[in-house]
Amino acid sequence: MSASLRCAGIQRFADTYLDGEFGDRERVEFEAHLEGCETCRDKVREQAAWHRGIRDAGPHERAPAALRNRVQRAIARDAQPVRPWRRFSTRAVPLAAVGGILATLMFSKVHWSPVAADVIAKHQRNLPIEVSGGVDQLKRWYAGKVDFPVRPPRLPHAALRGGRLSDIGERQAAYLVYDVGGNKVSVFIFDPGNESLESQRKAIIDNHEVYFDQERGYNVAMYRDRGVGYAIASDLDSGQMYKLVSAAVAP
Ligand SMILES: [Zn+2]
Repeated sequence: MSASLRCAGIQRFADTYLDGEFGDRERVEFEAHLEGCETCRDKVREQAAWHRGIRDAGPHERAPAALRNRVQRAIARDAQPVRPWRRFSTRAVPLAAVGGILATLMFSKVHWSPVAADVIAKHQRNLPIEVSGGVDQLKRWYAGKVDFPVRPPRLPHAALRGGRLSDIGERQAAYLVYDVGGNKVSVFIFDPGNESLESQRKAIIDNHEVYFDQERGYNVAMYRDRGVGYAIASDLDSGQMYKLVSAAVAP
């Protein structure tokens, strides 16, 4: 990474940074940029909120001792009362806002879910819609076609564009397309049977186990609700995706 990290690069690598995967030099450059750039600070904070809600699903180990120590020092420094002469200090105080997450970060091996792979592949294709309309129209349309209840999730700031019949692996699926601020969001509803929806990262949201995955710039979330499987793919960033799914699983 060059010495002149720009905003786009910073934001693209926010997850890498929050996962503690940077070398020392990259980390110092990254943090130096955050000190001077409010936009990127906000972005990283938003990503950090997502990380905070996430627990790795796979086998994991504690963050390396050196990283933990560094983070604990950063937190201790920030906890000190701010003296007047420190007000214009250039030290990395903003970073302490995200430092607390690093302290408890876990690392895991990547575990790529076949459901996630399938859902992303379909999301990327612009499959035509077979039925358009609101929630009630779609429910009626699917009623005689699939043998599980289709309850389109209520997504914030989203317009339901329509749906079509689809599949996940060998299973029949209802595929719903939403528009969220100009971004396409694909929602697959299916009977998951005993199939595991486990994936890279796990979050407990409103008593639901939600699994998140990320590949080729797309975010996926998978969960069960009342025996029905949901897989959501989008080109939203991970922070926006976390908010969207949190709203979807709320009662
Ligand atoms: Zn920036």
